[in-house]
Amino acid sequence: MKATVIGVGTELLVGHTQDTNTAELAADLLESGAEVEVSFRVADELEPLVRELAHALRHHDLVVTTGGLGPTPDDLTREAVARAIGAPLVADEAMLEKIRAFFDRMGRPMPEANRRQAMRPRGAEWIENPRGTAPGFLWQGGGKTLLALPGPPEEWRPMWEEAKRRLGLSKKPRYRKVLKTFGLGESQLAEILGPLFAEVGSYAKPWGVELVVHDEDLVKKIRKKLKGKIWGEDEDTLAGLVHRRLLAEGKTLAVMESVTGGLVAELLTEVPGASRTFRGGMVSYTREAKARFGVPEEVLEAHGQVSAPTARAMAEAARRLLDADFGLAVTGVAGPEALEGHPVGTVFVGLATDRGSWARPYRFPDQGRERVRLRAAYAALAYFWSEA
Ligand code: AMP
Ligand code: MG
Repeated sequence: MKATVIGVGTELLVGHTQDTNTAELAADLLESGAEVEVSFRVADELEPLVRELAHALRHHDLVVTTGGLGPTPDDLTREAVARAIGAPLVADEAMLEKIRAFFDRMGRPMPEANRRQAMRPRGAEWIENPRGTAPGFLWQGGGKTLLALPGPPEEWRPMWEEAKRRLGLSKKPRYRKVLKTFGLGESQLAEILGPLFAEVGSYAKPWGVELVVHDEDLVKKIRKKLKGKIWGEDEDTLAGLVHRRLLAEGKTLAVMESVTGGLVAELLTEVPGASRTFRGGMVSYTREAKARFGVPEEVLEAHGQVSAPTARAMAEAARRLLDADFGLAVTGVAGPEALEGHPVGTVFVGLATDRGSWARPYRFPDQGRERVRLRAAYAALAYFWSEA
């Protein structure tokens, strides 16, 4: 079954009200096995509404609208649906009494304007609204179904459940696995996965590209192809995995951060029980702070603040100062200005252990300070995850 969702309301087009209805309904429809390829918003204007409703009905089996069922003159969904399906609007005395009773319960007289809400296109059946005055309606004809719901989510949600019962739509729980990768862009993943890539959803996040897979065999194949590149799945977080690993080994971690200004520590301390594995850290934002926290002057002199040797020395200093098993450090350039000749997005992550210390360079695109800093923080955690 092909379905589409339409948000009715001028305020939705300009973002005055965030359109959350179409996404929520589309997600629910997809889980019920419907095919949803299109959802959109239309202004409170009769002509475009009629046109888009008619168009939607030609191309879909089910059309769901939200909004435009209020009592005021700009609420035009009833009229537009009637025109789009070629049926007159008819008044319903019984519904009018129900709306009047709703006002009675609130101790107010029913405004004349609310009479409009008791009108429905001929042939449509009501979907009652237990939480407001605007009833919805369900129309079926010529193999097509149209469902009109009011705008407020708390009003339409129970009505949507009722409509789904009548339409025999029910959730078919679908297998779903999120695979979380680091260090590869979407195009590289597409190259490695070949034709498999077309069968997954891919989403770029600051902690790496996430792949959403709906088939167990496919998950196995992807894991094989991306060996060493998948750090977690579903609800996993990098900081959570780092914590679990340290906990399992009875080890501790300390950090020294420059470019991230404490973001790595922030991510690590988001994990409940973090104090059992995370000892703390320093923000060594200036050259002087790096030196005072124990980065040798010769290293800073010879290589600068943004360099692999400095990242290593920072990690060693953090490890030493806080008596930790591991030291992790980040230094880099968040912008907007380049630093020491390094372009914005240059980052070095350092790692110190009882076996020695290492560092790795990264180059992130200049997508603004915030983005560079976030990616640097996640890179540090991912580096620890893959190398420690
Ligand atoms: P309406 O039925 O068009 O008068 O909408 C009434 C209220 O419902 C609006 O003021 C919004 O608060 C809410 N609403 C309408 N459409 C949406 C939507 N697409 N997403 C989220 N909220 C909505
Ligand atoms: Mg409206």
